Amino acid sequence: MLLNVIPTPARPRSRRVTAALLASAVSVCLIAASAPDPAVPLGVGDRLFPTLGNPGYDVESYDLRFTYPGSNDKPLTAVTTIDAVTTETLDRVNLDFAHGSVRSVEVDGAPARFTRAGEDLVVTPDEPLPAGSPLRITVRHTSDPVSAKGQDGGWVRTKDGLAMAAQADAAHLVYPCNDHPSDKALFTIHVTAPDAYTVVANGLPEGTRRARGTTTWTYRTGHPMATELTQVSIGRSAVLHRRGPHGLPVRDVIPRADRAALEPWLRKTPGQIAWMESKVGRYPFETYGLLMAQAQTGFELETQTLSLFEKELFTQSVYPKWYVDSIMVHELSHQWFGNSVAPRTWSDVWLNEGHATWYEALYAEEKAHQPMEKRMKAAYRLSDSWRAAGGPPARPKGPKPGQKISIFRPNVYDGAALVLYALRQEIGRPAFERLERTWVSVNRDGAASTADFTDLASAVAARDLSGFFEAWLYGEKTPPMPGHPDWRSDAPKAGKKA
Ligand SMILES: [Zn+2]
Repeated sequence: MLLNVIPTPARPRSRRVTAALLASAVSVCLIAASAPDPAVPLGVGDRLFPTLGNPGYDVESYDLRFTYPGSNDKPLTAVTTIDAVTTETLDRVNLDFAHGSVRSVEVDGAPARFTRAGEDLVVTPDEPLPAGSPLRITVRHTSDPVSAKGQDGGWVRTKDGLAMAAQADAAHLVYPCNDHPSDKALFTIHVTAPDAYTVVANGLPEGTRRARGTTTWTYRTGHPMATELTQVSIGRSAVLHRRGPHGLPVRDVIPRADRAALEPWLRKTPGQIAWMESKVGRYPFETYGLLMAQAQTGFELETQTLSLFEKELFTQSVYPKWYVDSIMVHELSHQWFGNSVAPRTWSDVWLNEGHATWYEALYAEEKAHQPMEKRMKAAYRLSDSWRAAGGPPARPKGPKPGQKISIFRPNVYDGAALVLYALRQEIGRPAFERLERTWVSVNRDGAASTADFTDLASAVAARDLSGFFEAWLYGEKTPPMPGHPDWRSDAPKAGKKA
């Protein structure tokens, strides 16, 4: 994600009620000890999003089926089928799902009871599910593109249809899921829409089927994907095709009327992919491209194989060309850093944004003579303030109430790129470049943590870097910059809020 490129109106605020619900549910349980445990929202223990994800099972694949009514202010009808394997005995299965109504739930083909608890949909099969067994859950539901008060993200309503922006925790506003990047799965996405619309989703097309004025489009991912990276574009779009390195299919989705204006930008993608490959190795997925949405989201987003951009970033010349180029590279580099290698928890998000900012800056240095050292010296000046406001890079403060994407603060962007710069200074360019290539290669299609990264760095550099990382990733103050003992960080201004 890259925030706030085009000015947008203030976002609505909300309050989470999960903690209160959990507290009241627990007290009921104490009073009525012999009654069955009440349904409560569960999580996988993410420090920043305690009820995100669910324990006890591992999703292998999602099959999402949406029917678009031809208007983006009415709910889509949907069927979500989840194939999973239980990892413990389960009396109940919690899914994350917080927006839209549920008509029915089946477990392994048999109707199952269900209830809502906080942001969870709690499903009770007739018989407990044994550990280590396959599990198929089918949920018939609606998927509402109109945000509820305080629920940002999920569907994005565009001028001509819908797109999706689910980072960090909004996929479960669109469909029931295990909404945590540590549980990646394969996706098949079917969308039925009136014939005037074009639908594109993550992965490659599997064909279309026409019937009575509607077309059903099917897409399938070739690699596992985190729920937060789901993309479905429904619009009056043109789909442009070209080739990237080694014949990689490159596919852009743009408003039909803007083809000529956008072409000079879109033709840059194959060269940018080749540049990234020269730094870190082969592009990790089956396709790439840009989705140019007619919407003001306030951010660009690296949805897997099809990054979401605000069209106006390219058609309003607010920023210098080199800067827009570097933003394209930012989202592209996330396909390696954040998507192919997902964060194990949201506290590891500095690995996503630090690396994306790093390659954004490196591209600007190599292609547009914007020196990395100058940018990093400026970041160093502000680093203590960023740490004070947002926490150290690898122990970021939680989101502000009702603004869950507020974990995306400067401490995890330039503040984290500064950590990578310090690391390159410390271990030298050859070891740093080897580390980067090895990281995306050994963790490809997986999820990895900060400890995984620091352990690998020590192994590649053949020395113990734990003290270095402890100070740089977890320190309240920015450590001295190796090779630049004269760099200074300004004291945080008293009372300044994140
Ligand atoms: Zn980003």
